[in-house]
Amino acid sequence: MTPPDTNSPAPVARGAEAMRDAILRKLTFDIGKSRAGALERDWFMATALAVRDHVVQPWLNDMRAAYDTGEKQVYYLSLEFLIGRLLRENMSNFGLMADVRAALVSLDVSPALIEACEPDAALGNGGLGRLAACFMESLASLSIPAFGYGIRYDHGLFKQAIRDGWQEEFPEDWLNFSNPWEFARPEIAHPIGFGGSVEEVEGGDGSIRHVWKPAETVLAVAYDTPIVGWRGKHVNTLRLWSARAPDVLRLEAFNRGDHIGAVSERARAEAISRILYPADDSPSGQELRLRQEFFFSSAALQDLIRRHQRVYGSLNTLPDRVAIQLNDTHPAIVVAELMRILLDDNGMEWADAWRVTQGCISYTNHTLLPEALESWPVALMEQLLPRHMQIIYMINAVHLGEVSEAYPGDNRLLASLSLIEEQSGRRVRMGHLAFVGSHKVNGVSALHSELLKQTVFRDFHMLSPQKLTNKTNGVTFRRWLQQCNPCLTELLVESIGPDFLDDPEALRGLEKLAGDAAFQQRFAEVKRVNKQALAQVIRERTGIRVDPTAMFDIHIKRIHEYKRQLLNVLETIALYDAIRAEPHREWQPRVKIFAGKAAASYHRAKLIIKLAHDVARIVNRDPMMRDRLKVVFLPNYNVSLAEVIIPAADLSEQISTAGMEASGTGNMKLGLNGALTIGTLDGANVEMLEHVGAENMFIFGLTTPEVENRRKEGWHGQMAIEASFRLSQVMDQLSSGVLSPDDRGRYVEMVRNLRDHDHFLVTADFDSYFTKQREVDMLWAQQAEWQRAAILNTARLGWFSSDRTIREYAEEIWRVPVEH
Ligand SMILES: *Cc1c(COP(=O)(O)O)cnc(C)c1O
Repeated sequence: MTPPDTNSPAPVARGAEAMRDAILRKLTFDIGKSRAGALERDWFMATALAVRDHVVQPWLNDMRAAYDTGEKQVYYLSLEFLIGRLLRENMSNFGLMADVRAALVSLDVSPALIEACEPDAALGNGGLGRLAACFMESLASLSIPAFGYGIRYDHGLFKQAIRDGWQEEFPEDWLNFSNPWEFARPEIAHPIGFGGSVEEVEGGDGSIRHVWKPAETVLAVAYDTPIVGWRGKHVNTLRLWSARAPDVLRLEAFNRGDHIGAVSERARAEAISRILYPADDSPSGQELRLRQEFFFSSAALQDLIRRHQRVYGSLNTLPDRVAIQLNDTHPAIVVAELMRILLDDNGMEWADAWRVTQGCISYTNHTLLPEALESWPVALMEQLLPRHMQIIYMINAVHLGEVSEAYPGDNRLLASLSLIEEQSGRRVRMGHLAFVGSHKVNGVSALHSELLKQTVFRDFHMLSPQKLTNKTNGVTFRRWLQQCNPCLTELLVESIGPDFLDDPEALRGLEKLAGDAAFQQRFAEVKRVNKQALAQVIRERTGIRVDPTAMFDIHIKRIHEYKRQLLNVLETIALYDAIRAEPHREWQPRVKIFAGKAAASYHRAKLIIKLAHDVARIVNRDPMMRDRLKVVFLPNYNVSLAEVIIPAADLSEQISTAGMEASGTGNMKLGLNGALTIGTLDGANVEMLEHVGAENMFIFGLTTPEVENRRKEGWHGQMAIEASFRLSQVMDQLSSGVLSPDDRGRYVEMVRNLRDHDHFLVTADFDSYFTKQREVDMLWAQQAEWQRAAILNTARLGWFSSDRTIREYAEEIWRVPVEH
């Protein structure tokens, strides 16, 4: 808890009346508008600033307290924080929701409209960035002192528009109208060097010290956003860095009369924080990306080291006060940069520096996809970070020396464990660097962590069997239940009491109501209300009318071949064919709802979006369907859209090729809100199955070892297609061009790929998926049974709270105290 600060100003007044005054004051004095002239956006800004006032004092107190007590702090380094909106989160976590809404209503302003004015902070691509955002909220809710460190991108993830069924990308401008949540800290500006050379300076005692003389310096300027925990118990800081050219640079050039040159140099420096890389699961390999990675890693280290040194002086005790978590390998250069700071700037011996480095750092792996494992050409590293490259060579020499000693003469092992990949030009393997520099490495679901031990880190695991652990992902229930689904939350509070708001495991209390017909009806009624709201959004954004009593079958996530939206679209075609073949059978009405962005350069993913639209055009217009099948693609998937879709989901599609989805978190959000999952045994689906039970989930398809065997045998889709009447019919429609009359050859290549290769085993899983979908229909026809299973999903997914995940990190990796 926050100790009282006798120097603080008086607490901010509470109550709707006080809130109304506060909002009006902000509108007048901070926004400079009158009530009559205020636009919705002005009301949003005024409201956000009034809410922010409640955050500031507890925030300052908590930061001061962490500083005074010298508690160990967690530093969460992530190139992405997919936060979404903050107004509702801050109101809700501070218990201000009712007051603010009443205040706005009394001012004749619609709370819903002004909440919708807030732009999404889309500083991430998908799951990895959203995980970082959930973790920040859970850290604050568990009162663990923590900083999130990342980049304040001027432009977050692109906006997706759909034209003629094709994805188009538009720049995202979340900072166009100022951001009410952040505090600029222009006085906190760390110099970040690039390029140049390394000088060797002889010390008096004959020792040699290395001094890096960068050719170029960019300033990392801090912007702080307070992150409020549940019930406002604790407030932490998300510190995002913005790149600024140092003034000296500009002045020199200006004085030489090179005005254009000075400005372009400035633009080059500031390009670092200009834009988020929009590729999910495949590193771009561009120099700017490496500059981004080093930029925020170095800024974070300088910041936390300065904080430590001000109090303790010596850096020997750093691991007692500092836990640095690397969210994937993007900040892995921290290993070399921390070594450089300890060795070169602080004169520490190698062995001590290495102990401190490993003691502080731990690393989370997010993927097994070989194409997503990050590596950088040695030549680029040498040019951009010459001293770091030397240190990486030294780390590698010591590391491989230890390996040789333990396993003499094993060259295969040496090559496999080396930080340098020698095969495809020489490259630094960032995963290996992160592994050796960490005291703990974790995967993000039980299956994923097990596969890490068997595949990418097999030899590392043999070398240090204690290092690899599992921390199954979670999601914050405040955002993904309480805030996005207030009707369900209210029903739950009424039925099982409010304990679950503070202890998600208390949702278990629902189990005893799962068979209760009256409760089932109320549960279904909440869902119906949420589906009506989604139907409204669908109508507004796509023009398509959907029936809220039909089953809402939801497939929302980044568009990627391994996530297999294509499998779902092919099944949609097959279902369409089946309904047309037997129009008089009793078909269960379904709306297939897709949303997700494809990386701009990922042509196959973009073609899947186009196919979904081609299928939708035909299905939605066919009078024979009579609302029994509709297909919807909602554009511009982001956190705010997810918050509308998820409470309205009946069925959750989690159908990745087994062994390829590290965890998934969308699966947890949907299940928590009472959707039944149709899914493969992949990622955290496996653990969800253990929690909710096989009778409440629809599992189908190849398992991970079966996928591996198929691939070893050299899988071709041809045989599976020939063996399946339904699938061959679907393939024929794709190749014949009936789905794409404007371009009959559009899907020829797609079909050829499925026949010849089908790396993602779409054809292999098609029949079992189609059959499982008919089981879904059968259960849907028995509404009482369906509702029972849906309630049990909500009841039994409490374990997937990110509070549980963060507690595990705190106890087993960071070793910081945490309340229970
Ligand atoms: C939860 C979430 C994700 C991750 O979804 P998966 O289904 O786990 O891939 C991606 N984007 C947004 C906006 C999310 O909220």
